[in-house]
Amino acid sequence: MRPSILNPLFTDLSRLPGLGPRLSKLAAKLLGGDKVADVLWHLPVGIIDRRFKPKLAEAPDQRIATLTLRVLAHHPPPPGKGAHKRPYRVVCADETGRITLVFFHAHTDHLASALPVDSVRVVSGKVEHYGAELQMAHPDHIGPLEDLDKLAAVEPVYPLTAGLPPKTLRKAVQAAQERLPKLPEWEDGPWKARNGWTGFEEALKTAHAPESEADLFALTPARTRLAYDEMLANQLALALVRRSMKKLAGRSIAGNGALRRKVKEALPFELTGAQTRSVSEILADMMEPSRMLRLLQGDVGSGKTVVALFAMLNAVEAGAQAAMMAPTEILARQHFATLLPLAEAAGLSIALLTGRDKGKARQTILDGLASGEIPLVVGTHALIEEDVGFNDLALAVIDEQHRFGVHQRLGLSGKSKACDVLVMTATPIPRTLTLTAYGDMDVSRLDEKPPGRKPVDTRAMPLSRASEVTAAITRALTQGAKVYWVCPLVEESEKIDLKAAEERFQDLEQHFPGHVGLVHGRMKGPEKDRVMSQFAEGPVNILVATTVIEVGVNVPEATVMVIEHAERFGLAQLHQLRGRVGRGERASVCLLLYGALTETAKARLKIMRETEDGFVIAEEDLRLRGAGELLGTRQSGLPEFKMADLAHHADLLAAARDDAKLILERDPELESERGQALRTLLYLFARDAQVATLRSG
Ligand code: ADP
Ligand code: MG
Repeated sequence: MRPSILNPLFTDLSRLPGLGPRLSKLAAKLLGGDKVADVLWHLPVGIIDRRFKPKLAEAPDQRIATLTLRVLAHHPPPPGKGAHKRPYRVVCADETGRITLVFFHAHTDHLASALPVDSVRVVSGKVEHYGAELQMAHPDHIGPLEDLDKLAAVEPVYPLTAGLPPKTLRKAVQAAQERLPKLPEWEDGPWKARNGWTGFEEALKTAHAPESEADLFALTPARTRLAYDEMLANQLALALVRRSMKKLAGRSIAGNGALRRKVKEALPFELTGAQTRSVSEILADMMEPSRMLRLLQGDVGSGKTVVALFAMLNAVEAGAQAAMMAPTEILARQHFATLLPLAEAAGLSIALLTGRDKGKARQTILDGLASGEIPLVVGTHALIEEDVGFNDLALAVIDEQHRFGVHQRLGLSGKSKACDVLVMTATPIPRTLTLTAYGDMDVSRLDEKPPGRKPVDTRAMPLSRASEVTAAITRALTQGAKVYWVCPLVEESEKIDLKAAEERFQDLEQHFPGHVGLVHGRMKGPEKDRVMSQFAEGPVNILVATTVIEVGVNVPEATVMVIEHAERFGLAQLHQLRGRVGRGERASVCLLLYGALTETAKARLKIMRETEDGFVIAEEDLRLRGAGELLGTRQSGLPEFKMADLAHHADLLAAARDDAKLILERDPELESERGQALRTLLYLFARDAQVATLRSG
């Protein structure tokens, strides 16, 4: 259980001053968590320097200044029609000049008490020149003279969300820091000293109190320490999971190759070199008496499914069962459709089990799995439900697309006394970062595409030329093409996104009546499946989608991918989307329609035009990261660190991994003094489940 010392950090956000039920909801969305600790992880991205204290005569236009002023007179707006639209003015002065403070929709009483005539006040905000006249609209701060030092300071600027006032958020951060308990040191003393780090608490305070722009860099000692803390928690947690999996009994699985031979004959193609290599790596692992924990990494379309099938057949040859779990219904169905004919070729029965199977049909499958009559099964989370049991499960394949948590990964293999695990991911991750997501998993890489794939002709053009695109689509459709049209999802407001997608749908429907379909994140599963299958099998030829199109969806006839506002997507996601096309025999096109381009966005689109190698793109994605929020970072496959900025701190990952390894070698159950502190660290970063793998966890 989480040590009670951490409780103050794990209480609900709404308990912080200024954050009621409504604002705390907004804040939770912004922070990606609804606990006090989540506020602490929210680091400033800018500063406002209020230390500039000029006299009025020297106060430049458009600059933030902290002024010491005497209040001369109040001028409420003249009464009558339209009064509420006119500002309330307060004229103030110092020895060198005058300035008018301007307030719209003013609370008159509040202003009267905040700025009494003849009093001296400290006022901070942006000075604006209108000819010879100085104005300040809605000062950020107004206070008595005693507050001068407090107000004339450097203020951190935090990433915000609409509706959450900066002051409120700053206050919440302040309050969260005050709740920070005294925590034991979990970092190694000499390592800490070598890096010039302070303790955790001081590092956190420093990170939240930048004095200059330089203090905002990711590589300051304070931020580096916090990043390392987080990466250490990440690596330690992964090491614990890996260990607990390895501790589970394994067994040697070695089939005689009979089923694999049959399937090989039935396949309309030869395996690529990379596929053959991966299959033999997996088979070798399965033959080991210890438990396999292997990652099969390969771009969309690189042919992971067949590789997984061979591993599954190996299990069946050895007299056991194999299961494949996909993150969504659509994907599970697709895998099933791929595997069914091949399983039949081998004379094997294969079942599909999803949340939609109910009653008798479901029971028949469960019976078959429990008796062993059904050797192969593909499914969704439905596979890990309590009442699903196997006669003898020897291999769990998890097509994870980064959507399954550790628990779920463990869940399926937990249905067996001894089960190998193969995780498949379609997201090429830079080598250094494989660590963050998978720890020290063994990795097989499919770095070679099946032969005969035509490169996707990728072009970037301004959105203003969307009409040309419509013309091009018309031509493509007459040749039987199928078209994806992706509209961006701005997570802040799903409603607006949906509207954009619906408008695009209407627009295209006018040009191509009866041939356009729409899928989006708010649709229910069956409804989505219906549209998807209309797209795969007709009559829909154009599929308008928010970014929900599933990562693994396979419609080989699709040859055109249009991405609207491509500049809003990260490289990894653009790559994933482009991977939907170029799967068949025919040449494919990817059109990246852009609105306003930043330098980084330009660079991203350029890379997309230059390469289709997912591993190269992944490295570039990392390099270009950190320049503004991107859509689809979730889908990029990188774990979402709160403090660590992988573009800058990736080098420390290996150190964290080695550190974690050494820690567990010396103190396997984290029982020493430092071990106890490390448990606190794990809880601090919400790795509760992993701590639970420890003795007396
Ligand atoms: P992934 O799961 O890696 O995205 P799939 O396993 O779905 O890729 O394979 C994509 C397509 O390529 C499928 O239609 C599959 O039949 C085909 N394929 C797989 N391996 C080969 C190969 N060696 N040669 C030709 N086609 C292949
Ligand atoms: Mg696949």
